[in-house]
Amino acid sequence: MHLLRGALRNYAWGSRTALAELCGRPVPSVHPEAEMWFGAHPADPARLLIGDDAVSLLDAVAADPVRELGSDVAPRFGNRLPFLLKLLAAEEPLSLQAHPSAIQARDGFARENRARVPIDAPTRNYRDDSPKPELVVALDRFEALAGFRDPHATIALFAALEVPALAKYSALLAGQPDSSGLRALFTTWITLPERALATLLPEVLDGCVAYLSASHGRGQFGKEVRTAIELADTYPGDAGVLCSLLLNRITLQPGEGLYLDAGNLHAYLRGVAVEIMANSDNVLRGGLTPKHVDVPELLRVLDFEPVEVPILHPGGAGGARRYPTPAAEFALSRIDLDATNPTADVTVDGPNILLCTKGSVQLRSGDTVLELRRGAAAWVSAADAHVSVTTSEGNAQMFCASVGRAG
Ligand SMILES: [Zn+2]
Repeated sequence: MHLLRGALRNYAWGSRTALAELCGRPVPSVHPEAEMWFGAHPADPARLLIGDDAVSLLDAVAADPVRELGSDVAPRFGNRLPFLLKLLAAEEPLSLQAHPSAIQARDGFARENRARVPIDAPTRNYRDDSPKPELVVALDRFEALAGFRDPHATIALFAALEVPALAKYSALLAGQPDSSGLRALFTTWITLPERALATLLPEVLDGCVAYLSASHGRGQFGKEVRTAIELADTYPGDAGVLCSLLLNRITLQPGEGLYLDAGNLHAYLRGVAVEIMANSDNVLRGGLTPKHVDVPELLRVLDFEPVEVPILHPGGAGGARRYPTPAAEFALSRIDLDATNPTADVTVDGPNILLCTKGSVQLRSGDTVLELRRGAAAWVSAADAHVSVTTSEGNAQMFCASVGRAG
């Protein structure tokens, strides 16, 4: 067991305060800080702090995969750590995106290899052959769009906006209020010729503004409509703004989670969260980004089935409570400690990354004792003894990332 120093990622959509504050560094930071990666991703591995050395976790796992990952996990995932744990702070919306299934990722990766698209080309969709399920858990209020809304509710939203130009799209959806209708409408909007978009989008946005003022911001679709206006501010003229009106608008309260399986169209809007995902870079973008957008490929992987995306709470009582997800690559549990429940145990049957998000905790594994402040993490290898966690003072919260069960 060692302290693990995360890799800080500066993206323009990040925050100059949230991660610095969480990790106890001066505020505001020089650059917007978007993510802190705790994992063994080749692009930016975290570092094990061993004595005066900072050893790449990627190198440590490669040097002795069976010791670090365990004899079960190492062969299951090709001697690689299968998950990446992140702290994420979004001040501005991230792109509209979806991730491929296992089969789509394998096919897409092979196809782009055959076409000789360089692995680091900005036009490359599939940088590896893995699916990328992800789970995001809010640390403060977290805002997102995820999954297609029930078409009947979307028809009601269009009606509320009172925009004549929306009538034909509303009719399209009313004729087929299911995944086929959503596919047809989304495909029409995301591929709308520039001139048609330049007429439709301002009319819809005018409708949004009128709706907000007529309902004094308290209408049934207030959040959805405000989101479209905000997205249009950041990405003017982007078809993704229209498409945002088709998606579930979700607010997570602290501790609540959202699981995004293959094909789920989503966009993170704002907030601070813990995120865990399969260790993959496979993202298909549909807009709201200056990065590469490949609409045909996105359409190929999207799941248009309307869903109410469930908000997840960790299951079980006391100790490490786990968020229920089907992912094979990862599992995420949360440990809450206070004066009445000051200790908990972490069972080690594979690699674990422990991340303190509130207060501070003391970790004990065999003879090793570590203090974990808020924002700090530790690596527990499969060879380490079970870990007992104690709050150093008052309330504390820790997340525990591990490998999911074999399917
Ligand atoms: Zn995503």
